Formats: sequence, C-alpha cells, structure tokens
Amino acid sequence: MTDWGSESATEMGDEPTSFPMYIAGEPTDSESNETFAVTNPATGDTLGEMPAGTRTDAQRAIDAARDIQPELEFMTAFERAELCHELADAIDVNSDRLAEWLTKDQGKPLAEARVEVDLCAKEFRNAAEDVKRDETEVIPSEDAGKHIYTLRKPHGVLGVITPWNYPLNIPAEYLAPGLAAGNSVVWVPAPTTSVVATRLLDVFSDTSLPDGALNLVTGEGPVVGNELVVNDGTDVIGFTGSPETGEAIARDAGTKPTLLELGGNGPVIILDDADLDAAVECTSFGCFSNAGQICSASERILVHEDVHDEFVSRLADHAQQLSLDDPMAEGTDLGPLNNDAVADKMDRHIADAKEQGATVVAGGSRAENMPTDRYYQPTVLDNVTTEMAVNWEESFGPIAPIISFESYDEAIAIANGIELGLTSSVFTSNIELMHYFTERIETGIVNVNDSSAYWEIHTPFGGYSGKNSGHGRIGGKYSLEQLSQIKTIAVDYENAKSPLDQGSDTD
Ligand code: NAD
Repeated sequence: MTDWGSESATEMGDEPTSFPMYIAGEPTDSESNETFAVTNPATGDTLGEMPAGTRTDAQRAIDAARDIQPELEFMTAFERAELCHELADAIDVNSDRLAEWLTKDQGKPLAEARVEVDLCAKEFRNAAEDVKRDETEVIPSEDAGKHIYTLRKPHGVLGVITPWNYPLNIPAEYLAPGLAAGNSVVWVPAPTTSVVATRLLDVFSDTSLPDGALNLVTGEGPVVGNELVVNDGTDVIGFTGSPETGEAIARDAGTKPTLLELGGNGPVIILDDADLDAAVECTSFGCFSNAGQICSASERILVHEDVHDEFVSRLADHAQQLSLDDPMAEGTDLGPLNNDAVADKMDRHIADAKEQGATVVAGGSRAENMPTDRYYQPTVLDNVTTEMAVNWEESFGPIAPIISFESYDEAIAIANGIELGLTSSVFTSNIELMHYFTERIETGIVNVNDSSAYWEIHTPFGGYSGKNSGHGRIGGKYSLEQLSQIKTIAVDYENAKSPLDQGSDTD
C-alpha cells in the first residue's frame, strides 16, 4: 500500500511537478500531450502541470470502465464492501500527506483539510457497511404459482463531475457508494483542484481496486465533463456544482439518470427568543469556515429586529477576531479563496450592497500585504435588503449579510423568496415556533439551533423541489438508492418443467 511517510512531497515554492490522469489503472498523459498549470492559491506558486484531457481521453476512460464493470457487478456485496474498507485504509495511512496536498491545492486551513480527509475515508467505510445491509424485497403476488422479488443492480458506468470546494469529500460521496453498488466510475474533478484528485488515485493505486474501476480524467469541464454527460458509454451522471452547469448537464443528459447537487443560499433565521451565544458562534461557523465556500454556507442572516443590534455587534466582534493567514499554519481560521472568480464575485456583491445602502461592520475587502490577492477578510454587512445581489445570489465567500425582520411570516417570505433551496437554519427556544418554521422553509435540510452547514454524511442531503438546488439525495442509503436501479424478478415456478411431475434425471 502506498505510504508517503518517507516521501518528500513538493513543498510550496518547489519546482512544478507533472501529475498524471489515471485510465485503466495506468497513470497517463493526455493523448494531446497538452497540460495546464495548477497554482497554490495561498502563494501563487505553480503546484504542478496536469494533463489537459480531450474527448478522446474521456472516451478511453469510459471504454476502460465499461470493460471492467461486469466484474464489479458480479462481485458479492461483501466483496465490494471489503474493497471499500481497503480504500478507506489507504486514505487513513496517507491522511497527513493528503491533507497537506488538499490545503496546497484548495487553500483551506490544514485543520479543516484534516477533517475533510477523515470524512473522505468515512464515506468509503459507510458505503461498505450500508451495502452489506442493502436488503431488497419479496413482494406478494396475485398468482399462487409466482414468487416476485427485487434485486438492486448498478446502473453501469457512473460519470462523476465535482467542484473545487471539497475536492476529496464531494467526490467520495459518489465514488464510495458508486463502487459499493457495483458501478465503475469515470471522474472529472474541477481543474483548480486536480492535483489532490490525482494524489487520491496514487493512494488507491496499490490497492486491489480492479484496473479501470475508477478512472480520473483531468481538463476543462465543458470538454471532458461534457463528454461524460453526452457519451452513450455512461449510464448515470453524478454532478455537484453550480446551478448553471447543473441545468446544462440535465439538458445534455437527456433520459440518462442524473443526481444533481447544486448551489445553496442558506437563510439563517434568528428569532427574538434565540440563544444568542449559540446563534453567533454557529453563524460565524456557517459564514466563515472554508472561507464561506460551502454550498450549505450561511449566506443570508435574517435577524428579528428586537435582537438585531446585539447580534450584529457580537457577530462583528467574532469576525474581527478570526485569523486570516497562511492555511498551512496552525491556528489559521481562514485561508485564501480558491480562485479569482469567487474573489471577484465577493467584490461585486459588496460593491452592489454598499451602493444600495448596506453598511460594512467588519471586513469588506481583500486583505492587504498577503502573498496573493485571494485572501478575503471575513465580512459582516448590515442593513441588507432583498433587492441586493447578496440576498438573491449565492456569494460563496466569507460574508454574513444581515437582513432585519419584524414578523415571523416576513422572515419565511424572505427565506423562500429566492431561486435556491438547499439548507437553512432557525434559532429559537420555542417548540411551536420551531415546527412553524421547519414546516414552511423551502430547503432540503433545515437545522434548528445549529449552523445551516451542520450535516452528517449518512443523512439525506439535496435541493428542495421547485428550486434550482438540484434533485436527488446524497448520503448513506440514499446515495446507494440513487446510484443503483431496482430490477423486479417474477418467477412462475408452476410453469417450470418439474422433476416432481416427470421423475428425476438421475433415475
Ligand atoms: P461549476 O459548476 O463551475 O463547476 C463544477 C464542475 O463542473 C467542475 O468540475 C467544472 O469543471 C465542471 N463543468 C463546468 N462546465 C461544465 C459543463 N458544461 N459540462 C460538464 N461539466 C462542467 O461549479 P464550481 O464553481 O466548481 O462549484 C461551486 C458551486 O457548486 C456552487 O454553486 C456551490 O453551491 C455548488 N456546490 C454544491 C454542493 C451540494 O452538495 N449541493 C456542494 C458543493 C458545491
């Protein structure tokens, strides 16, 4: 099993290294020999060159996945579970190195990277346990001579396309249950976090994962990602990313099944009877962990007018005490944003809000004198209104926009009055109000007295119907359901040629 314990990984500032894709178990370059550079967002240094995959590369990966898929399908669930545990073991053995690569590639603080690596291993362990208990049914028949039962079968070849904010755990949400269910996989990671993707495949390369069971194709999403979607060789698509790309994928996939996990614009609603200590701490976590680059981030903070002033002042104090620094240093709370587009969006949202009357009570701009201009100060905006882009568009950065409300129904109307509906939270000490809000908020997940980002990996996670946050549910047995299909077997045992009627062949 690969163990990088004694290997010296490329340190920040080292010469760039070339990294491979993986097709049919082999590290490989693109057939075009083209590459693209991946930079460390914390330093601006080039981390490495990745192959710029082509549609032909994606086709090669799909062919490899098709060739091996029957082998996975006809392994027993217990054998696939064993394989998933082995992959989890490989992650655990290399967890320190993976966490370092994750921080260098993505920019999140090392402490958060360690948590993500552990979650990634846990995804494989949970899938292993879930698949062993994935029982199907025997269904009563109207015909006395029939037995009817169901089998769970894999879809076949699973195409997985993932974003850059959780570049190990989000892929694992598909890879682990996908493989456990007997699919083979072709994975296209986000270009800006391709290095840590290839490092995960390095870790898997010495396990008993059959060659071609998990292929990695790096490159531009509209090229290699789109090829997975439109190619007849894939049977199901798992996608996590923006609503815009999700819509394009749903359109291009046609009748192919898709599991789409898209954006959120999580409202947090703080009622007048809330425990403000908990509300401040959990809101800070939801707005500023992973520098706000979380689909379940607390993107809009709706505060009852009676507790507004105290809450805002306490949250601003909290934000100002956070450490925005080198993500490799212990004690750093926020590192840089992963890419320029997300920093530019923060600039645009803050400028738009200020122009329309919002006030900055903490942060409000990129930090100065940092190695790159992607370090964004944790920002608290007050006097935000529903017309501002920070209300109706996902910011995906370290920002807490505060909207004050007078009545409970007004809060619900603001919470539901946008196009996204992924996660939310409500802070109240009153059980009646708790139910009033949880019944009415249109998000797939509602947390009570905790951050909108609170989540456990075996629970169902996904967008609310009628919103643009995706469809299907990921997590535990729900992922297994989405990444497999039910086959119904109806057996007429009376119509079989019976040795009971005709005497035995062995006579
Ligand atoms: P994105 O849609 O720009 O990219 C996601 C992936 O899709 C990348 O790998 C990209 O290369 C690929 N891609 C881009 N265009 C494509 C195309 N035409 N066909 C196929 N693939 C294509 O999203 P992003 O900026 O990487 O991620 C941020 C978004 O993801 C946010 O909206 C966030 O809320 C969402 N997200 C959702 C969840 C969830 O579980 N619901 C989790 C994390 C992130």
